[in-house]
Amino acid sequence: MSDEIKSFQSIDKLKVVSGIGPEKTSSHKTLSKISVHKSPKHVQSVASIVCRICHTNTVNEALISPCNCKGSLAYVHLSCLERWLNQSSRSYCELCMFRYSSVQTKRYGLCRGIRLWMGHPRNRGHVRSDAIIAVLLTLVTSGLLTCSFLGMEYFVSEGGKLGIQRKWIRTSVSMFILAVVMGYVVTIYLIIRDQVIPWHRWWISTVDIRLVLPSSVNCKFFKGNDSVSSQM
Ligand SMILES: [Zn+2]
Ligand SMILES: [Zn+2]
Repeated sequence: MSDEIKSFQSIDKLKVVSGIGPEKTSSHKTLSKISVHKSPKHVQSVASIVCRICHTNTVNEALISPCNCKGSLAYVHLSCLERWLNQSSRSYCELCMFRYSSVQTKRYGLCRGIRLWMGHPRNRGHVRSDAIIAVLLTLVTSGLLTCSFLGMEYFVSEGGKLGIQRKWIRTSVSMFILAVVMGYVVTIYLIIRDQVIPWHRWWISTVDIRLVLPSSVNCKFFKGNDSVSSQM
């Protein structure tokens, strides 16, 4: 069996793994159709080519050169790169500013996102104090409205004794009710907006990034003490 046929067989077993965590298997991409050209000019020292993130060149995963970085920083494992991008919430190379083609999906669903946000120590106290204010405000507003509606006739009769016309008493109480309701609605709106806007900003920016590699990406597969170059 020639060296080239052996190379094809070993490359057939290689997979580029994308994604991190439990969703890893969804985006496995088998490199079965890669054309490998092994010639002396492509053979380099294995020790000199390592992943710029984990500083290894394992035989289990190909090293790729996905951006414009050159030299010792050119190569990286796809899984290492995606993990780094997910942790840093970036979709570009911070060295050469190359913007990767990527698919971004929300990391958390709505309910889980809200739960995680509210449970975070940084937000917990703020959420709790706003919730207490909202509950107290609701109780006070309910009490004022109940008193206003139930006491309308009492205010009218008391006003009559002082010579104030019935319609003025009713108008004044109605205006008071309107002011209480508007004050309540505006305050609750401000409290909710104060909580929802930062949560929403965090929720939409917390994404899982999966790279979509162009066909021209350089790959290096390690076989024994040699490396084999190819293009995806
Ligand atoms: Zn790596
Ligand atoms: Zn780069």
